Amino acid sequence: MRALVFDKSLSFQPRHPEPAAAGGDSLVRVRQAGVCSTDLEIVKGYMGFTGVLGHEFVGEVVSSPDKDLIGQRVCGEINVVCGRCDLCLSGLSSHCRNRSVLGILNHDGAFAEFLRLPAINLHVLPKTVDDDAAVFVEPLAAAFQVLKQVQIDARKWVTVLGDGRLGLLVAQVLRDAGCPVRVIGKHPEKLALCEKWQIRARPLADIVPRHDQDVVVDCTGSAAGLEMAIQMVRPRGTVVLKSTVATGKAMNLAPVVIDEINIVGSRCGPFREAIRALAEKRVDVTSLIHRRMKLEQGVEAMQLAERPGVLKVIVTMES
Ligand SMILES: [Zn+2]
Repeated sequence: MRALVFDKSLSFQPRHPEPAAAGGDSLVRVRQAGVCSTDLEIVKGYMGFTGVLGHEFVGEVVSSPDKDLIGQRVCGEINVVCGRCDLCLSGLSSHCRNRSVLGILNHDGAFAEFLRLPAINLHVLPKTVDDDAAVFVEPLAAAFQVLKQVQIDARKWVTVLGDGRLGLLVAQVLRDAGCPVRVIGKHPEKLALCEKWQIRARPLADIVPRHDQDVVVDCTGSAAGLEMAIQMVRPRGTVVLKSTVATGKAMNLAPVVIDEINIVGSRCGPFREAIRALAEKRVDVTSLIHRRMKLEQGVEAMQLAERPGVLKVIVTMES
């Protein structure tokens, strides 16, 4: 099959082996998949992954032990878990000790004609969520995870730091939850998008950190973002860290102790809530699509997604 493969370098492979069958897996013919910052980090060495990249997808089920799934249009949860380890048994299966992760850890991903996932990972999509919206289910679920981890209400001062792909989803989710969120970013056209969504937006250059925010969600994807967040949050406030930055940069953590700051790491989130928000058009994702490119141009698609200011690049599997 055709696939975009990372093995020391990134390349389009016209005849990559199809994913091997495993018990309980469903075979999915991928329609399209979104490029995520995690994919860009992997190419720089994050996770030490080799194989087919990509984990934000929509596709059709070709074969499955669950006959009701065959022919259905689906997206899929990316953590493939054992169900037997202590973390799985205590309800923390997204942290399974034996997990593989689609396109990120020991499991070939979605930038290919076919992928395999356990039937239990798949979510059938309603007609009201089209293919373009569907590739945002996974990152939008990650945005909803913030609400699972931090209590947010209209009285709180909340800042989303970063106006990139994930920051703009997190900001919309928080606004939808009734929180008067503010976005701080570097790109005028993205801050204008926030204004369109009735979300307050400020250029980073105008900000003087004052240790006055109840919650700061760092979606910058940079080590400098966390340092800025720590300067913005109030004593005993919370910094939610959404960035996975593959860096070894040393940083000063003394303010975390002095101001007794809670730092909360945040990763994957609830798919059902993301699908419902998209179906009810409570979140605008189509404004985030920068360009569609074919799988054959996957290397160029990744380069494009890396450029500052570029939002979602979608890779389509049509030949
Ligand atoms: Zn497990």
